[in-house]
Parts: sequence; structure tokens; C-alpha cells
Amino acid sequence: MGREIKRVALDFDYPVNGMIWKGFHNPYSGLKCSACDGTGESPELKEISDSWYGFDDTSKRWCYSITQDEVQALLDERRLMDFTRVPINDEHKEIVKNKVSDGGNSWLPFDNGYVPTAEEVNKWAESGFGHDAINKWICVKARAKRLGITELECKHCNGSGVLWADEKYAKLQDEFEYIEPPAGDGYQLWSTTTEGTPMSPVFKTPEELAKWLHENNASSFGHSTASYEQWLKFIYGPGWAPSGIMSKGRISSGVEASANGESNG
Ligand SMILES: [Zn+2]
Repeated sequence: MGREIKRVALDFDYPVNGMIWKGFHNPYSGLKCSACDGTGESPELKEISDSWYGFDDTSKRWCYSITQDEVQALLDERRLMDFTRVPINDEHKEIVKNKVSDGGNSWLPFDNGYVPTAEEVNKWAESGFGHDAINKWICVKARAKRLGITELECKHCNGSGVLWADEKYAKLQDEFEYIEPPAGDGYQLWSTTTEGTPMSPVFKTPEELAKWLHENNASSFGHSTASYEQWLKFIYGPGWAPSGIMSKGRISSGVEASANGESNG
């Protein structure tokens, strides 16, 4: 998420200083459980989970040294597709070739039955994007099981990571509905990186907004800004841009990329 054009009432007047629109602020919040640092994990599970990346102590890091039972847990959850959903013989290659020529992607449509060794998986994890948060969670659970840890949840917050004085407030937080700014004919740039923050005054036309954004060097992504034409195209076009996208080997601002007709991948 990144930038969005909202159509709001012309007299909508809210500070343009990075403050979240009050209608998007959930007024009910619980107390973060400090026993588990808000993770909801038992101390035993948290130790395993924290050491995955080893932020505090890299000597304990194990995301590049998982064991064979953890590999199996990942396979059971249909992960590790780089090993199991790639062609490993001529028949597979033919199937994928036909799939791609029919407009499909290059994954083998079924499991090839290959069981990678832990060594292979660890080498893979170090060389590419590696394990995502889902893989981490699967491995943490598998390791906890192997170590005989049965207490997985923090007993103080029952695994939620949050403490409530009364359940009625938890319910209110859950039921809280966002209130949009008053709708109307105006054009306004919003940041959607947080819950939602106005980033410009409200203007009557896309041209006026684009002019203001360009003249004020409004940020389209981090430190980059867009030209008048790029902003205008963005306002008339998608009106929405991710924070930054990879395209042709470089990260460009979402606004720039949308205006250039690049994909919003
Ligand atoms: Zn807790």
C-alpha cells in the first residue's frame, strides 16, 4: 500500500501533518502482554521462535540449519515448491512446456515426489529469498514438538499477546468500524502506508491537485517525487499505488510506475 486518491468533501479540513484520520483510529486497545512481549508465545516457544533469525544472538540462529524432521514438516504443509513443483524428468518438462504455452505458470501442476535433504534446503534458504513467515512458524512448531514442548501459549494472555481489563473492550475493538472521511467532489492524496493519512489539501480538480503535489515535491515513495504529468496520470488513472514496486530491476515509486503503465505487482 502507498498512495491513494480519495474523493472527499470540498470543505473537508484535516491537518496535513502525518496524523492518521481520526475515523481510522480504533479507540479500543488492550495492554500489550509484556510477559511474552505481545507474541502470545510461552517462554519455551518464544526462545525457539526468537532464535530462528537470532536477532539477539546470531550464534543461535537456525533458519539456515533446519533439521530433516523440519524439512518434512514443510513438505507436509506443501511448502518448498522450489524442490517439489519443478520438473525432474523429461515427462515433467513436457507437461510444464505445454502448460506455459497454454498461458499457465511454470510450476509443475503436481508434486514431483522429491524429498530434499536438510542440507539442500539450508543451502537454498541462504541463497535466495529463503523461508517466509509461514515456513518459520511451521519449523518452530516442528522443533517445539521434537523437544517435547507442550506449553505453547503464554499463560498470562492465553496466547493473544494482549490483556484486557474486561472482555467487553476486546469485543468493542473487534467490532469497531472505520469511518471514512466525508465524501464529496474534492480530490485529495492520502498515504495508506499506515491506516490512512491525508497528504495534501483538498482540490476541486485533478489538475490543481497534481500542480500542488508537484510544486510541493510531495513524496510518492520515500524520497522520490513525481512530475506534474505523472501525478496527473496517477490521479486520472489507477488512483492507487503501492509504496514501491520492482520493475525492470529497479525499485521505482508506485506513482511513477503506475503513470508509466508498469504493472502494480
Ligand atoms: Zn502473553
